[in-house]
Amino acid sequence: MTDIRINLYSDTQTLPSAAMRQAIAQAPVGDEQSHADPSVNKLCETVAELLGKEAAVFMPSGTMCNEIALRVHCRPGDEIVAERGSHIIAFEGGGPAALSGASIWPIDGERGRFSADQLQQAVRPVSRYMPRSKLVVIEQTANLGGGTVWPLEQIKAVAERAAEHQLLMHLDGARLLNAVVASGISAKQYAEPFASAWIDLSKGLGCPVGAVLAGSQAFIEEVWWWKQRLGGAMRQAGILAAAGLYALEHNIERMAEDHANARLFGERIADIPGIGIDLNTIDTNMVFFDISGTNLSGDEICQRLLQRGVRISQLGATRLRAVTHLDINRSQVIEAARALRDVCETG
Ligand SMILES: *Cc1c(COP(=O)(O)O)cnc(C)c1O
Repeated sequence: MTDIRINLYSDTQTLPSAAMRQAIAQAPVGDEQSHADPSVNKLCETVAELLGKEAAVFMPSGTMCNEIALRVHCRPGDEIVAERGSHIIAFEGGGPAALSGASIWPIDGERGRFSADQLQQAVRPVSRYMPRSKLVVIEQTANLGGGTVWPLEQIKAVAERAAEHQLLMHLDGARLLNAVVASGISAKQYAEPFASAWIDLSKGLGCPVGAVLAGSQAFIEEVWWWKQRLGGAMRQAGILAAAGLYALEHNIERMAEDHANARLFGERIADIPGIGIDLNTIDTNMVFFDISGTNLSGDEICQRLLQRGVRISQLGATRLRAVTHLDINRSQVIEAARALRDVCETG
């Protein structure tokens, strides 16, 4: 197989930089599960502060942040309201059903977002015939929505309606910092209406492993029980937390470059015959486009791009996705767009 030179498959493909590895090598460490790892403690304090929450806990993955938060907020028979394309529905192995015994009411949103009125329609009347509506999950940015940024006003409107029905709010902030960089609105402002919120370190921030979940002191105490039960409590995890601390210091503002590169890629592929793309939908570092106008299948396009050293992903029968990140520069984006043009024009 040809070497992958330009990996636009996902921002999870980033590799730790030399400087990040240096920070990892120098990290003071201790026993994380006894709260004795100074690097983990510092990371948790930093993220709690960033998100404006009382406390935070270091997790092996974003999936564990979502699943434990849902488990703490919900009881079996409760119902979660989320957008249909959300990660908890699409990519967590049925976790909400398996681990929390919760059903999910999917809202058909607009690019991964929904309105307060749509939430209203999803909320169950209080009746013992029905599940109990308990929790609203919002993804910022909305991944399958297109890396979409939820406007703060829309979040507030949804949160107000949720409060009227005594529903809690959970923020899947895997790419919250992309939204922060794209909008100029702080992470704290975005996270304010949520009982729990988390950020991923292993996406655009460029760390090898980890995510941090934040909330009230009481919430985080409950989270720790589940982290322990599920085997997520760690030992000298400061090795990993040091990468997170490095990333929070050096890799946030630079995501503006990823957003500019995503836009550039979109612009360069927009006039390829058979490619359907709306440039107005590129909010952050993701470019989704439709290939039904070409004579090729999504799989064929991905394979032919791979032969040219370019990797992208397929998310839907005719829907492909390219994601920019810190290991992708401007000229690589231009080259990837040229490769796609070549594939589509030569078949
Ligand atoms: C990646 C992702 C997750 C899960 O994070 P992992 O660290 O890969 O477990 C959850 N939600 C969204 C929106 C994501 O993109």
